[in-house]
Amino acid sequence: MLVNNWPNAVAHVDADCFYASCERLRHPELRAIPVCVLSSQDACVVAKTYDAKAAGITTGMPVWEAKRKLPEAIYIPADFAYYGQISDQLFAVLGRFSPELETYSIDEGFLGLNGLRALWRKSWSEIADTIRAEIRNEVGITVSVGVSVTKTLAKIASEYNKPDGTTVVAGRKIGDFLEWVKVRDIPGIGANRQALLHKFGMTTAAQFVDAPEPFIHRLLGKLGTDLRHELRGVPVYPLDLLPALPKSIARTASMGEISGDKSMLAAHLTHHTTRLATELITRRYVAARISLFLTLQSFDKVDAEIRFDQATANYFAISPMVQAMLNRLFQPGQRYRACGVIATEIAPAASVMPDLFGRVEQDERQGRLLETMDRINRKYGKGTLRMCAASGLRASSRSERFQLPLFDLE
Ligand SMILES: [Mg+2]
Repeated sequence: MLVNNWPNAVAHVDADCFYASCERLRHPELRAIPVCVLSSQDACVVAKTYDAKAAGITTGMPVWEAKRKLPEAIYIPADFAYYGQISDQLFAVLGRFSPELETYSIDEGFLGLNGLRALWRKSWSEIADTIRAEIRNEVGITVSVGVSVTKTLAKIASEYNKPDGTTVVAGRKIGDFLEWVKVRDIPGIGANRQALLHKFGMTTAAQFVDAPEPFIHRLLGKLGTDLRHELRGVPVYPLDLLPALPKSIARTASMGEISGDKSMLAAHLTHHTTRLATELITRRYVAARISLFLTLQSFDKVDAEIRFDQATANYFAISPMVQAMLNRLFQPGQRYRACGVIATEIAPAASVMPDLFGRVEQDERQGRLLETMDRINRKYGKGTLRMCAASGLRASSRSERFQLPLFDLE
C-alpha cells in the first residue's frame, strides 16, 4: 500500500489571538478589559484581544500610538516561555484526535482526518466542534477550526469564522467558498503578489483558480501553480508529521552602515546572539554548533564556528564564544556591512530542559543576576535591562539609564 501524508480531509486549528488569550487565562480579571501584548525591544503590539482590535489597534502598532487610541487597555510584555506551556497543552489535546498532527506554529496545527468520520460516526463539523469544546474546557482558550480537502483550503477556512468558529468546506462547495475569499487571504500571497494579481484583474480566489495555469505560472512561478492546485482541492502540500527540527536558525542583518568599528560589530553581534538564544529557548531547542560570519564592504564573507561538547541555548555560554570568534576574524582597516550568528546541529532541549533563562547548568552568580534582571524586567517592563554590549545600537532612553544585561524576548 502506498503510504502518503496527502490529506483528503484535513483540519486547520488556530488559536484565537493566542498570546492575549494566554494572558487572560492567567489573569482572569482581564476578561473584560482589552489586552495588548508587546514586543520588548520595539515596544510595539504583537497581539491583541478582539475588543482591542475593534478599537483600531493593529499588530505592529507602536505602543505610544496604541495607548493614545486605547488608554484603558492593559499592555503586557510578551512571555513566550509561558505561551509555550499553553501551546504544549493545546497540542496534547489535538494529538488525541488524530495521530496525523502537524505543528505548524506555536498556536496552529493541521490534523489529518482521513477515516475519522466513519470511526466516530460524526460529521466534519461535529468533529471540529468537539475539538473546539475540548480545548476550551481543558486548556481554557478558544480556537477556530477549518476543515477541507487541502491544507490551504483548511487554513483559509479556519480564518473565515473567527473567533471560536467552525467552517467546513466540502469538495463540492469549494467553488462557492472561493467567491468569498480575497486573493490577499490566500496563504503565501503577500502585498506584492496581491498587487500583481490585482493588476491582472484577479481580486478573488475564484478568479485566481479560473485563470489558466500557464498564466499563473508566469506570474507567480511554482508557488502560484501549487496554490492553484490546492485551492481547486488537489492536495500538493503533505502533512509534515515529523516534528521538524530546523537545520539551522540564523539571526543576521545588515548593519545599516558600512563600518570598520569593532565595537559596532560587537554590539550588533550581542543583539543577534540575544535573539538567537531567545529563539532557541522559546522553541525548546539547543544547538551544538554556533557560527559567526562577517560580510565585508566588498560582499566577501569571512566566518568561523565553534562546537560545544554539550548543546546549549544559554546566552552566557554562547556570547563569549561569539565575541572570541569576532576577535579572531576582525581585521583592523577592513570595513564591514553585515554580520550574523547561526546555530546548527539543533536538537530538542527535552532531556536538558533549560529554565526560563535557558540555563542548563549555570553558575550561581549568573543565576542570581538573571533572576534579579527578570524581577526588574517584570516589574518595569521587559526592555528595562538589556545587554550592555548591545546598548550602542538603538538608543532607548529607559535602557540607557541601566547599563546592565537583559535577556530580551522579541
Ligand atoms: Mg492564531
